[in-house]
Amino acid sequence: MSYAAIADTPDRVALREAIRSLCDRFDDAYWAELDRTHTFPAAFADAIASAGWLGIAMPPEYGGAGLGVTEAAIMMQTIGASAGAFAACSTVHINIFGLHSVVRHGSEQQKRDWLPKVISGQWRTCFGVTEPDAGLDTARIKTRAVREGDHYVVHGQKIWTSTAQHSQKVLLLARTTPIEQCARPIDGLSLFFTDLDPATVRITEIPKMGRHAVDSNQVFYDGLKVPLDHLIGVEGKGFRYILDSLNAERILNAAEVIGMGRRCLAVAVRYASERVVFGRPIGMNQSIQHPLAQCWSELYAAELMTLHAAQLCDTQQPCGAQANAAKYLAADAGFHAADRAMRTLGGMGYAAEFHVERYFREMMATQLAPVSREMILCHIAERELGLPKSY
Ligand SMILES: Cc1cc2nc3c(=O)[nH]c(=O)nc-3n(C[C@H](O)[C@H](O)[C@H](O)COP(=O)(O)OP(=O)(O)OC[C@H]3O[C@@H](n4cnc5c(N)ncnc54)[C@H](O)[C@@H]3O)c2cc1C
Repeated sequence: MSYAAIADTPDRVALREAIRSLCDRFDDAYWAELDRTHTFPAAFADAIASAGWLGIAMPPEYGGAGLGVTEAAIMMQTIGASAGAFAACSTVHINIFGLHSVVRHGSEQQKRDWLPKVISGQWRTCFGVTEPDAGLDTARIKTRAVREGDHYVVHGQKIWTSTAQHSQKVLLLARTTPIEQCARPIDGLSLFFTDLDPATVRITEIPKMGRHAVDSNQVFYDGLKVPLDHLIGVEGKGFRYILDSLNAERILNAAEVIGMGRRCLAVAVRYASERVVFGRPIGMNQSIQHPLAQCWSELYAAELMTLHAAQLCDTQQPCGAQANAAKYLAADAGFHAADRAMRTLGGMGYAAEFHVERYFREMMATQLAPVSREMILCHIAERELGLPKSY
């Protein structure tokens, strides 16, 4: 199927235009100030929520629009291409597909109680999976949830939990059966959607390189009581539920990065056309033009892979390799575009005035999270090339 047949249907063009016009209300000056002051973009988050966009991929019976991963990817790519770049994406990312495990495995009561509040923006939620001593080896997490009568009690520590400072809720992965008693390391992990009760949960922000408007945190759980009905699905199957939504997450992340890369490229092209040195625009030099043309090509290729993966996902076809490859290609294409924008602007790339340094700082994170390029290549080598598992 051609690019236009997927991305430029009338509905998707209208979707892109609606998101773009909402994002245009929040310009570079808005995001730069929030980045400088480490302030959460509440006005942007409220605007997205009140326009109903948080429910784009949620079932209509709970207040969502019931659209697919393709539409969600188009939305996130448009947000990534806005002045808010990765900070804007991270403000809403978890709400778009993060609760897919609730949609697929939650009870009817849970869906009715929770999803409308997440879609309306009444509840902000964060994602508590990564731990300092486990890293990408998620099955080795140590946070424990122990059943005591009509509730679980959680002890442990998470790291990098984004938006926890501003969230009431957390989608939390914890071990409910000791790993030694499980047939496989990924067994015995359970998923909860529960409250970040300040009486037993301590949240401390991690100083970091960029995306300062959106906090990432260490979160210490010291006896958090979790009611039984905050368990999603069956005890011990939580890691499998997370795996269910990983392909969609990879696709959305790829789309975000492509949008960010396109913004960097646009700034670089404008500057290359206008900046005159040695009596002519620097964009007349092939050493400036060619890398920008290369970025255009890489971003386009990554976008095609992303749309292809989204289409496979929406039609319930296997898409693990394509979703991973899309994330890999997008992260590299986006990073090259940010790097090239910085070089094209020369000294002004390093100055805050043109915002490229902010985009560059934010772009770096997409090389590392939510999954690193190394782990993607491990996955493709094993699953697509039949090479031995290396981790
Ligand atoms: C800005 C930001 C926001 C985040 N938000 C969240 C969030 O909201 N919730 C959450 O749960 N997590 C979040 N994360 C965590 C993120 O998902 C992890 O940082 C990521 O999964 C990598 O884990 P790690 O940093 O522990 O790396 P490690 O696992 O320590 O790995 C370090 C390096 O070693 C490489 N490596 C490790 N093992 C192998 C191997 N076998 N073969 C080859 N290479 C290997 C990795 O690829 C990586 O380059 C966030 C991270 C960042 C930076």
